[in-house]
Amino acid sequence: MTTSRIYLSTTIPYVNARAHLGHALELVQADVLARHARLAGDQVRFQTGTDDNSLKNVLAAEAEGIPAAELVGRYAAAFEGLREPLALSFDDFIRTSSDPRHRPGVERLWRACADRGDLYLKHYEGRYCVGCEQFYKPAELQAGLCPEHQTPPQLVAEENWFFRLSRYADQLHDLVSSGRLRIEPAARRNEVLGFIAGGLEDFSVSRSTARARGWGIPVPGDPGQVIYVWWDALGNYVTALGYGAGDAGDYRRWWTGAGRRVHLVGKGVLRFHAVYWPAILLSAGEPLPTDILVHDYLTAGGRKISKSDASGDGADPVALVARYGTDAVRWWLLREVPRLGETDFTPARLVARANDDLANDLGNLVSRAVTLVHRYRQGKVPGAGATPGDPARLAPAGRALAQARRRAPERIAAGLADFDFRAATAAIWDVVEEANRYVERVEPWRLARAERDGDAAAGERLDESLALLIGTCSGLGRELAPFLPGLAARIQAACDDSAGLLPAAEPVFPRLR
Ligand SMILES: [Zn+2]
Repeated sequence: MTTSRIYLSTTIPYVNARAHLGHALELVQADVLARHARLAGDQVRFQTGTDDNSLKNVLAAEAEGIPAAELVGRYAAAFEGLREPLALSFDDFIRTSSDPRHRPGVERLWRACADRGDLYLKHYEGRYCVGCEQFYKPAELQAGLCPEHQTPPQLVAEENWFFRLSRYADQLHDLVSSGRLRIEPAARRNEVLGFIAGGLEDFSVSRSTARARGWGIPVPGDPGQVIYVWWDALGNYVTALGYGAGDAGDYRRWWTGAGRRVHLVGKGVLRFHAVYWPAILLSAGEPLPTDILVHDYLTAGGRKISKSDASGDGADPVALVARYGTDAVRWWLLREVPRLGETDFTPARLVARANDDLANDLGNLVSRAVTLVHRYRQGKVPGAGATPGDPARLAPAGRALAQARRRAPERIAAGLADFDFRAATAAIWDVVEEANRYVERVEPWRLARAERDGDAAAGERLDESLALLIGTCSGLGRELAPFLPGLAARIQAACDDSAGLLPAAEPVFPRLR
């Protein structure tokens, strides 16, 4: 097995309110990739955090009449607190307003681009959406409104620092079209190529300190301006690695020296990650990300999910986990959300999916296998069968199951490589379904009766089928570990006969109501 070093990041959400299910989606997707790579023997660093320096945070604090630092502190803690309920395995959590690694890194990035001659001052007038933290060209607005927020943008006129994005258009086009900067799914890659082909204009990368309410990182050498929050936030991917302190240590290990640098992003921030960020890195002379994996949005009960109503529309991940458990929430996100197109969440869909799959198909399979071993073999698993083995040696009824098991790891890996969690989980589910079909076809209880009546061959076939079933369940526990770490561990414990006997049968996933 060849191992590699993978740096994997989520975007850092701005923290003017609590997290919603859309944040949970991205975090859980990244967590599955991280866990799967670790289990494959890769070295992985899974990075996340919060964007504290957004102007939206300041406005939310003003509305509450409290200092910005207090508001972002409260919500950043809530985001970091998703770790346990969602069973996330991130290695690092950076907060851009308070982490001492951040500001020196952002300043270094700025200076590197300035040294390259890519930053210049210009008087500017434009239409700015605070919700997006970006300027829009008149042609990009829909009936004069922000296409993302349907709100009128603010007219802003001031002197700003600009970044020479136009200089990098050809290079960016080559990188994306050649796949050296890989963007999945392909529809998103084409979107980026279309955006580049439409012409890249230099963009403003600073704000007057007054308009930023004094919040943010001052421009080096120009204290009247703060660095544009997107520059600041994108920088987190390297500042968290100690880029501000030099080229050694984590920065060398996980950025310049990593085999893959993977960003998970939502479709709404694709342009920032696939165009602005690589251009900044090109200017600074640093390596680019290798992969940008793009997910779509969720809706809840048919409505767009926004943070402000996270608590009201059933899309608060912490409340969902408290009610339905981590496995059920993760499973819905991984099993139901396609690569492209919006997915509507309702609690009823989550419950139906968990009960159909986890309680019925999988939970019953495991209980049945363990119960049969207790009933007919006093809890002792008959020898062999823990690995898929040679299908040709099995009775015909077991061949389809053995085949599904043998193919599963490769199909899971291929699904995850394509950023297709439904394909990956489908590979696991084929094994579950084949195993249930196998039980119905083999009827171990009938073999046990025949054995009791003196048919020794039936006894051997019973041994074979019980070994195959427990081996299959145990294998499912291993394959599910990156997706549902809690349930996977319970399945593995249920199938663990290292003490000589299986533990008494207990439901691994009780039905939800
Ligand atoms: Zn907007």
